Amino acid sequence: MLAKVSKNIFLYASQNKALNTVAKKWGLKFGASQVVAGVNIESAINQVQRLNEKGLLCTLDHLGEFVSSREDALEATVCNTRTLEAIAKAGVNSNLSVKMTQLGLDIDRDFCVQNMHRILDTAKYHNNFVRIDMEDYSHCQITLDILKELRETYTNVGTVIQAYLFRAEQDVKELKGIPLRLVKGAYKESSKVAYQEKEKVDENYMRIIEEHLLSGSYTAIATHDHHIISKVKDFVQKNEINRDQFEFQMLYGFRTEMQVSLVQEGYKTRVYIPFGDDWFGYFMRRLAERPQNISFALRGFFLK
Ligand code: FAD
Repeated sequence: MLAKVSKNIFLYASQNKALNTVAKKWGLKFGASQVVAGVNIESAINQVQRLNEKGLLCTLDHLGEFVSSREDALEATVCNTRTLEAIAKAGVNSNLSVKMTQLGLDIDRDFCVQNMHRILDTAKYHNNFVRIDMEDYSHCQITLDILKELRETYTNVGTVIQAYLFRAEQDVKELKGIPLRLVKGAYKESSKVAYQEKEKVDENYMRIIEEHLLSGSYTAIATHDHHIISKVKDFVQKNEINRDQFEFQMLYGFRTEMQVSLVQEGYKTRVYIPFGDDWFGYFMRRLAERPQNISFALRGFFLK
């Protein structure tokens, strides 16, 4: 009951534009620095360097919420191309993750696609890869349509499929050959489109992981769930799937010891690193997802 109330409070805070705007002026607070790698690209690159030294690969995500003007979307596009340039200049091992709503998807589809072209051209020039994060269900079909369109020109782009959606298995079949990040799914979706019970989501998650791996496609398994990770290890061993065909992914600041031990066991492991001054919404969503993360916030609250 308490967990549900706190979840709703954090979700409400994450969607509150005024709070998000005020928080930009604060700098990282309440322990957010444990899950957000700084407010600027320099601090993010420093974290990438630090993680690379431990054998971890990275993907950078420039945080941005409530993009509702072309101006904001263009600014976000430039931030993303600059991030790719900074990665190349520093010679670190990181690709890029983007959200298309940040690039103007809700404003004008063609404008958003143009912005994606700018980012993908920069990535191609630097021999890098861009992952389109999957947002809520209302953006799922359009994201996949744009991805397929972009794949006609670029091979350095992939997306994410969410196991909680009924459509996930069919999507994975249709996207055979395309690099996919597979996740359980982070948004609150209706029972008309998504499994609501954890067991069913987990079952479907393993189903789509196996499907994509067996089709020979490059697969990123993005989870902190050690039960799933252990099942994946067994599955790849049993089916003689090469370790170059998949990677594990986890969020920055989560299960950091497990991230390192996966590397030590010889598994490619990538850390998803969010950064930027628009940190508040992301931080609130992480608190909503897992009440135990509140200890981050409390620790940060008392330390600062
Ligand atoms: P959960 O189902 O949350 O946890 C399962 C079990 O794992 C828990 O019961 C616990 O035993 C253990 N566990 C989990 N977390 C911890 C922890 N911090 N410490 C100790 N034990 C823990 N979602 C999207 O919708 N779109 C995206 O584009 C997207 N990209 C993502 C990228 C990455 C790299 C990651 C890691 C996640 C992404 N997600 C995305 C979020 C994802 O959909 C899930 O909401 C999120 O990862 C929580 O689910 P889980 O698989 O980690 O495990």
